[in-house]
Amino acid sequence: MSEGNYAVHWFRRDLRVAGNPMLTRLQDEYEGRVLGMFCFDKTFLARPDFSPARFQFYLKTLESLRDELRALGSDLLVCDVGPDAAFADLFKRLLETRRNLPQTVSWNRDYEPYAIERDQRMQKWFHEQGVHTATERDHILIEPHEIVKGTKPSGPYQIFTPYSRKWMEQFRTPEIFDRIEEQKKGLTYLRKLRKGSVEPNYSLTWEKVLGPGDCGWAVLQKYAKENAQKVTVAVPATGAAGVLGQLETFRKRMDEFAGARDVPSIEGTSRFSVYLKNGSLTTAQAIAAYDLHKKPKLTNGEAKFLSQLIWREFSYYILAKNPRVEKEAFDERFQRIEWGNRLDWFEAWKQGKTGFPIVDAGMRQLNETGWMHNRVRMIVASFLSKDLHINWQWGEQYFMEKLLDGDLALNNMGWQWAASTGCDAQPYFRIFNPSLQSKKFDPDATYIKEFIPELRGVAPKAIHNLSDATRPKAYPAPIVSHDQQRLLAIQLYKAQRS
Ligand code: FAD
Repeated sequence: MSEGNYAVHWFRRDLRVAGNPMLTRLQDEYEGRVLGMFCFDKTFLARPDFSPARFQFYLKTLESLRDELRALGSDLLVCDVGPDAAFADLFKRLLETRRNLPQTVSWNRDYEPYAIERDQRMQKWFHEQGVHTATERDHILIEPHEIVKGTKPSGPYQIFTPYSRKWMEQFRTPEIFDRIEEQKKGLTYLRKLRKGSVEPNYSLTWEKVLGPGDCGWAVLQKYAKENAQKVTVAVPATGAAGVLGQLETFRKRMDEFAGARDVPSIEGTSRFSVYLKNGSLTTAQAIAAYDLHKKPKLTNGEAKFLSQLIWREFSYYILAKNPRVEKEAFDERFQRIEWGNRLDWFEAWKQGKTGFPIVDAGMRQLNETGWMHNRVRMIVASFLSKDLHINWQWGEQYFMEKLLDGDLALNNMGWQWAASTGCDAQPYFRIFNPSLQSKKFDPDATYIKEFIPELRGVAPKAIHNLSDATRPKAYPAPIVSHDQQRLLAIQLYKAQRS
């Protein structure tokens, strides 16, 4: 490497230094002469499912990342334009001032259709400028192209169980073991970072490369300030403290996870989804934190937790193999269901005013906290499509607008599962009964009462089957009859089956 060589790492959904595979590789190859870059891509900001709350969490994480990079001797350049314009501007500035272009621009791989297209375009452009590109696997432990089905019929997996069996086979190989161990170093680093005992190991700042000037942090501040006004939910802690805190909290819950994960009134799940979404944490790190890759036999809690992470990887596998699912039903038979799409019912669902307590509690949890328990996500999603006969894509979009962990692949799979339009989905004739679901998973109505104050004075048994006599005036009567809507839904789906 000649004296002036350096590299730029383009951050997207890998907002961490700890165990960031591409950053670590460059740090080594360029002996610390590595800089960070971030671009505010207006395509994302203009999406109809844009979420101010998720964006705020992202901005806070970006601030933590910038501070961390600075403390390590590197730097972050923040650009208020998408990557095409940002890198073109940067390269122009460098060439005009007779400075070297970076020798390499790198990023960690993403699997969403828009990201794949963007990355291919950028890669071509970098090569035209004579700049090398390098990419690494990051938030997925076993990438979609690495899971190859060896059995008939050929083509990608469509069912979770055989996919997960194949995933587990590969999980037990030395190669995957090494990947996890590599990311485990990131956790050790995080602990040191929290204690303030990390030595700077980068040696280049944007000021040295571009000369004096600001690094776009005012832009970051402007977005954070303006966007904060639109956020009504609490944003989780970011950076090393946030991630380590959550990993430690879940350690105490792991033993009970298999049972507790289905009970919405209990804080029984990991709450890792927000961190996994923006890359503050990876699947490999979530496994490494509890040494799941080293244990010959997992406890029930550990096995169930690993299985949830495999579901996450399966969601990305399905999206990568079938990018069309972003826009349409996986099951082509159900692409043209004649949804009723009643706007007043959709509004009642969004506001948590359908008169079905478990559904309303879930929607209010979503609106008030930016998160919803997985069991309840399934119930409200089923209710929207099968009881209200509203297009699941409307619900999918509303979830994305509200969820702090909103993630195209997982959200799309969850919605298509509940609406019976997805791969390995709930059969269309098996329809969740909200009353039975709440009796089974919230028997004391603790969860319902937490989010529906109008029902706090009503006995749990009555809540599961409210009648005109037991329903408080302040709480709405059911907007539909579950039994009738269920039969109609079956007809709706049956009509499309052939
Ligand atoms: P835990 O139960 O502790 O699980 C650990 C991790 O495993 C999660 O963080 C997640 O990454 C993964 N996981 C758990 N359940 C699932 C699942 N059913 N499918 C795929 N991966 C899973 N998850 C999102 O992260 N973003 C979404 O936008 C999203 N939308 C959903 C929409 C619907 C209709 C449904 C039914 C599920 C959706 N999920 C989504 C999946 C799941 O509900 C959340 O991942 C989970 O509730 C997050 O909480 P946790 O981190 O405490 O999960």
